[in-house]
This record gives sequence, structure tokens and C-alpha cells, in this order.
Amino acid sequence: MNRFDYVRPNTVAEAVQALGADPQARFIAGGTNLIDLMKYDVERPGRLIDITRLPLRDIVEHDGGLRIGALVTNATVAYDVRIKERYPLLSSAILAGASAQLRNAASTGGNLLQRTRCYYFYDTATPCNKREPGTGCGAIGGVNRIHAILGASEHCIATHPSDMAVALAALEAVVQVSGPNGDRAIPLAEFHRLPGDDPARDTNLAPGEIIVAVDLPAKSFATNFTYLKLRDRLSYAFALVSVAAALELDGETIRTARLALGGVAHKPWRNTEAEGLLQGKPATRETYQTAAELILAEAKPQSTNGFKIELARRAIVRGLEQAAAGTPQSQSDKRIQ
Ligand SMILES: Cc1cc2nc3c(=O)[nH]c(=O)nc-3n(C[C@H](O)[C@H](O)[C@H](O)COP(=O)(O)OP(=O)(O)OC[C@H]3O[C@@H](n4cnc5c(N)ncnc54)[C@H](O)[C@@H]3O)c2cc1C
Ligand code: SF4
Repeated sequence: MNRFDYVRPNTVAEAVQALGADPQARFIAGGTNLIDLMKYDVERPGRLIDITRLPLRDIVEHDGGLRIGALVTNATVAYDVRIKERYPLLSSAILAGASAQLRNAASTGGNLLQRTRCYYFYDTATPCNKREPGTGCGAIGGVNRIHAILGASEHCIATHPSDMAVALAALEAVVQVSGPNGDRAIPLAEFHRLPGDDPARDTNLAPGEIIVAVDLPAKSFATNFTYLKLRDRLSYAFALVSVAAALELDGETIRTARLALGGVAHKPWRNTEAEGLLQGKPATRETYQTAAELILAEAKPQSTNGFKIELARRAIVRGLEQAAAGTPQSQSDKRIQ
């Protein structure tokens, strides 16, 4: 049993101050990831800063889009009428993740900051550069079926597990943060990072910063979208590969395309070159195949996850087909929530 203190600030400023005062402190929101990590002895915070009293629980109109407070639960976001009507891609992605009970507790900020599901990260008897920098990577040459095929490094091949973040990447959401040096906005594409030679850092959040909100821009892709999640079970499983696809069409021609992949890299994977390639092209399978080839040209398999490259190729094509046809969601995700 590791001892820890527990505090409950009432304002964002108090929360930031509490974190700044103690390098061993951690924020806790829904606790659905952090508590597990504490039980596994992966995280040993000396102090928990419970942020659930902060006034960050609203979804409000903002700049033609919506601003989602960091403490709005995943369930509330997914079922909010404005989200369902204007950002159904986000709603679908959230409902494809976890379980109803977890989504009731999990927060918007916590979802973005959940840690990888790499088995070795959770097993303190094994080496892991993310958990203990410099110890090595158990997954390289080990059990790596769920690991990255894009953007990995020789130090870490983990993937980011969030479904919500993949949809937010395609929607070009912006993360609003507050910290000791004031407030700043981080585009979702720059929020998570690749492992490089510092896999312990999942994001570009600076020390002492708190997520206060996530902004959805006005452009919402409410008609031609899909979130396609491929996994070992139909429910309650993380993505092996997922695709958030969003299109604007002029008849049979693609006017705008957004595409983000989950389950394949240390961050939601967007390739703007591939999106540019889709633009102005006919909405056909051949077009989608060309984009998939481009995205996966740099894919590298690990010892047991080569199948993910072909899975991703097919998922991209199918995701774009579903989006173009306006048949957004795999039926499985509609049945099992
Ligand atoms: C069995 C299981 C299955 C799951 N399946 C899926 C799935 O399929 N898809 C999916 O996307 N997710 C899945 N999840 C993960 C789940 O979505 C996350 O655990 C959840 O979103 C985390 O939110 P939370 O509020 O509980 O975070 P917490 O556990 O409270 O916090 C997580 C981290 O974020 C930090 N934090 C929290 N809020 C803030 C903030 N506002 N500012 C700064 N730091 C903050 C905490 O310090 C902590 O480090 C699953 C989880 C479990 C347990
Ligand atoms: S892939 Fe990353 S998280 Fe997994 S064992 Fe290697 S260093 Fe750790």
C-alpha cells in the first residue's frame, strides 16, 4: 500500500497551484485509468488532486463550434444532442470505446491523457522505457500484436488507446490548457507526441498544466463520416486499427477529406498529404486505395503485428466507402454500447 494525500481544489487556479507545489502529485478525474495504474504500482502519486469540483462540466457554443469542458463525461458528450447532430463522428467514436459504466465516469481530459495499454507498461517485472526510462522495451521482439506500425522508435512501439482522440484529430479539435505560465491552445494534432528517444512523455502538455476544455471547430462533417473500429471483440476492447473518416462531397467528387487512424501509432495518425490526394478526386474505391497506399508506405511491422498493415489498408478503404455512402457506422457499434 502506497500512502498518498488527497486534496479537492475548487478552482482551476487552485488546482494548478497544488500541482506546481508537489512534483509527485497527479490530477484525478474519473479515475478509470489512474486508479488502475496505482493498483498495478505503475503510478505512485504522493498526492491526488481531485479535480471533479472544478467548474469544467459544460458544453457551450464557441466560435461557431462547441467547447467541451474537461470534466464532461464521455457519456454526456456522446449523447449530447448538439454533438449527435453536428459532430456524430465524435459521438460514434466515444460509443465505440470502453463500456457504458466506464463512459459514465471517464472525463474528456482524462480520455486524452489515458496511458497506453502495452502489456509491459502495466507489468512492473518487465523492462519498459515509458514506465522506467532506460530499462529497455519488452515489447520489441516480445508480444507486440497490438503495437504500432507507424511512427514507432527503437525505444518504444506503444500505441495510444483513445478512440475519442482519433475523431478529435479528424475534426481538428483544439485542446485548451491552463498552467503556471497562463493559458494556451494546443491543436489536437500536436497534443500527443511520437515516442522518439523520450517515450515517457505521451503528450506536449508542459509540467503543471491542466486541460480545461476541448474546442470543436465549426466544420463538423455531419453527413459523410464514419468511425470504423476493428478489434478482437465487438465490445469492450481497444482498437487494433480504427479509422475516423470525414468527407465533403460535390456530387461524386471529394471536396474535402479528413482521415485519422487509431491503434497504429503513439498518437492519432493523420497524413495530410493523403487527405490532399483525395481532394478533387472521384469518390471511388481506386481513389481510396491510393490514399491507403500512401499512408501505409512507411508502415513497419513488429515481430507479430504485420497483419495490422493489411488490416489498416482495408479499414481505410472501407471507412472512406462508408463515409462517402453516408452509412457511417459499423452495425456492431450500434447494437453493442
Ligand atoms: C476496461 C477498460 C476498457 C477501456 N476501453 C476503452 C476503449 O475501448 N477506448 C477508449 O478510448 N478508452 C477506453 N478505456 C479508457 C477510458 O476511456 C479512460 O480510462 C478514461 O477515458 C480516462 O478518463 P478518466 O477521467 O477516468 O481519467 P483519470 O483516470 O482520472 O486520469 C487519467 C490521466 O489523466 C490525467 N488527467 C485527468 N484529467 C485531467 C485534466 N483535466 N488535466 C490534466 N490531466 C488530467 C490524470 O492525472 C491521469 O494521469 C477503457 C478503460 C478500461 C478500464
Ligand atoms: S512499447 Fe513502450 S510502453 Fe511498451 S514496453 Fe516498450 S517502451 Fe514500454
